[in-house]
Order: sequence, then structure tokens, then C-alpha cells
Amino acid sequence: MKFHVVTLFPDSLDSYLKTSIIGRAIKSKKISVKTWNPYSFGSGKWKKTDDRPYGGGPGQVQYALPVLKAVERAKSKVKSGKFKVIIFSPSGKKFTNEVARKWAKEGKDLILISGRYEGIDARVKKILKAEEYSIGDYVLTGGELPAMVVIDAVSRQIKGVLGKFESVEENRVASSEVYTRPEILIWKGKKYRVPKVLTTGDHKKIEEWKKTKN
Ligand code: SAH
Repeated sequence: MKFHVVTLFPDSLDSYLKTSIIGRAIKSKKISVKTWNPYSFGSGKWKKTDDRPYGGGPGQVQYALPVLKAVERAKSKVKSGKFKVIIFSPSGKKFTNEVARKWAKEGKDLILISGRYEGIDARVKKILKAEEYSIGDYVLTGGELPAMVVIDAVSRQIKGVLGKFESVEENRVASSEVYTRPEILIWKGKKYRVPKVLTTGDHKKIEEWKKTKN
């Protein structure tokens, strides 16, 4: 599965993409992430990519053209010809695990447009017939974290990305309460024990217990 992130700050994705499971998925070519910077298509000597909003108000709005051109470049690299364009906005449809699973199953390239400042000129969404998604009810300073959230949530639904496919929560009984060694943890003179049932080896009882912890 291929992800294309359109962003003015590609470096901000680097460390997370190198780390742990996502890093491994990229190395083993289960997924790939490319960034496309509207700055390369900015206007004038200073490659300007944003300007004051029409109608007044605070902040800057990203020009449409540099974003459209960056998306055009990304599209030219979509080998299958099948892609989906997503624009991030706090007022978009809610991105959920169900959506992540659907996109992973479809397997289309995802072009993820991350905005900054006050957002991107609204004509981009219209021209690209992009779907608008929010990752939650809060306002961030940019769309890079939302892009990472989508990459992470979609990737773990792809076979071979997690160590064991059974690790995908919805394919098993998962518990939000987990324990590991030691069985008795001592902290500041007090003992904290692992729930007895987990040490019995009685799988049926353990599954029952997990269900109560969801
Ligand atoms: N004034 C804008 C907010 C811009 S926030 C508005 O009210 O819509 C700047 C950028 O951060 C957005 O373009 C979007 O790409 C990203 N962003 C901020 N919060 C987000 C959220 N909850 N979900 C998805 N993207 C978000």
C-alpha cells in the first residue's frame, strides 16, 4: 500500500516513520510513504505558498496551485491508476478504525493532503473531489499528525505489518488491561499482583475475564 503525503513540513514525519512497526513495514516494502511539498511549486522568487484570507480574518491560507501541482506529481507516481484523495480538516468526516480497515482492504494509493495555518484554499477540495476527514474533535496546527494517524491505523490492517495478524484487535478478544512479568510488582513497599486468572493457564476463563475488561 502506498501513501503520498502532501505537506509543507515533510521532515516532521521522519522519526515516526523510522520507528518500530511502521519502520519495519516500510523496510520490508509492505507500505511506502512519499512526501510531496507544495513549496516546490510556490510562486515567485520566495516560493510563496500562502496568503491573507479573502474576507479578512487572522492567519494565512495556503494557495491552491502549489497544492494542486504537488498532488498532480503524486498522481503521476500511482502505478495502478487507483487512488483516493483525502484532505484533512477538523470539520471533516470522522476517521475511524472502520474507515482504516476499508481503505486497507481497497488497497488504493492514498494521497493525504495536510494543511497548515488557516487551511488550504477551498477550491482544492472541489477540483480534486477530495474527501474531507478529521481525526478528532480538536484543532491541530497542521495535518501532518492526522496523516501519520491514518498511515499507522491503515498499515496495521495490512497483512504482514503486525508480527502476527492475530494482533489486529478486532480479529480476537483484546483487553485494554494487560500485564507482564513480574507476577508481583513491589513499588514503595506495596505489592501489586497480576490478576490470578491470567496465571492459571485456563484459556476459557482468561477469555471470559478479557471480555469484562473491554
Ligand atoms: N481554521 C481551520 C483550522 C486549520 S488547522 C478550520 O477551522 O478548519 C490547520 C490544518 O491542520 C488543517 O488544514 C488540517 O490539515 C489540520 N488539522 C487540524 N486539526 C485537525 C483535525 N482534528 N483533524 C484533521 N486535520 C486537522
